[in-house]
Amino acid sequence: MSPNVLPVQNFLRPGQIRLPALPPLSLYVHFPWCVRKCPYCDFNSHEFKGEGGSQAFPETMYLDALRSDLEQALPNIWGRQVHTVFIGGGTPSLMSADGLDRLLSDIRALLPLDADAEITMEANPGTFEAEKFRRFRESGVNRLSIGIQSFNSEHLKALGRIHDGDEARRAIEIAQTHFDNFNLDLMFALPRQTLAQCQADVETAIGFAPPHLSLYHLTLEPNTQFHKYPPVVPDEDTSADMQDWIIERTAAAGYAHYEVSAYAKPNRQAKHNLNYWQFGDYLGIGAGAHSKLSFPERIIRQIRHKHPQRYMETAAAGNAIQDENEVSARDLPFEFMLNALRLTDGVPTETFADRTGLPMAKLAKPLAEAVEKGLLVRDPGRIAPTELGQRFLNDLQAMFLLAPG
Ligand code: SF4
Repeated sequence: MSPNVLPVQNFLRPGQIRLPALPPLSLYVHFPWCVRKCPYCDFNSHEFKGEGGSQAFPETMYLDALRSDLEQALPNIWGRQVHTVFIGGGTPSLMSADGLDRLLSDIRALLPLDADAEITMEANPGTFEAEKFRRFRESGVNRLSIGIQSFNSEHLKALGRIHDGDEARRAIEIAQTHFDNFNLDLMFALPRQTLAQCQADVETAIGFAPPHLSLYHLTLEPNTQFHKYPPVVPDEDTSADMQDWIIERTAAAGYAHYEVSAYAKPNRQAKHNLNYWQFGDYLGIGAGAHSKLSFPERIIRQIRHKHPQRYMETAAAGNAIQDENEVSARDLPFEFMLNALRLTDGVPTETFADRTGLPMAKLAKPLAEAVEKGLLVRDPGRIAPTELGQRFLNDLQAMFLLAPG
């Protein structure tokens, strides 16, 4: 056990909070490789440079590491049911059908997984082969999240993506053959994108009738190529027009805008992501994966080693955790609000005490101030942002930064 990681007994000591019950638990599995690194991407994804196409990354060694990582994590989640699984990346759809089957078998062998658990896999066009996706479905993946980003080949090129518009369409057609539940990820405010081009992308996406849409504003994140060499992107007025149009158009097409960037047909919200936003628990395994785990009197966060090679070595040696710390009672109100306020309808008021183990009194002052400023709805039964609150979400969240711990 590394010196910065404590055995589970330490988490069961008396602490600063009292949770009435442990929250729902999800599992996140990170797959850290992509064919090519996109210039806007700040995820933990690495180009693999071996020979021989998609098998050039060390699949077996990585699957061994994931199993060993999961085995080591079990004492922290002993006896808890897992409700959702999300296999993200990177590009997990690069994995072979046999590899994915082994991963899900390992998870099922080690964890009590709900019989109807939502099991999502991220997939990128350019990796879609009909037979492989049929087998992914057979192994138990029941939801795909497809990284389309755009249908416009020029924009896809500017984003450094390996697929073009035709491949994006083909990928969706293959997905539709085997999966009734899938999400399309698109971005807007792309380099030199016009409002009409953004509208064409969203119209094309809606034309496929996806149960879920994720529509993200392109951001130039630190430590990316785009941050170093910024492309020309639409001005603020144009990107605000895009956002307004997206909200109207998706509503007209029957999608509920239930989170900042997420739109769903009835009963098709992403259960895994909802658990994050409702401040549920998640165990993250794989390179650089983050975890949030609750114990009766404390909440801890963990990060696995980020570089795939280092992760595989440390997982094999018995501890892949690079950093582990307890969330202080003082930070919990802000952390809770950072998530809950992303939801358009917010959360029932009691969720705060249920998930943080703190009394509502801790929130009384900033809550009253936010209601007074018109940023939160005036409803004692819910904590939910108003339209103004959604527009100034960062300011609203920041009001909970100084809540006394
Ligand atoms: S495909 Fe996705 S995860 Fe991979 S580099 Fe591009 S944006 Fe990042």
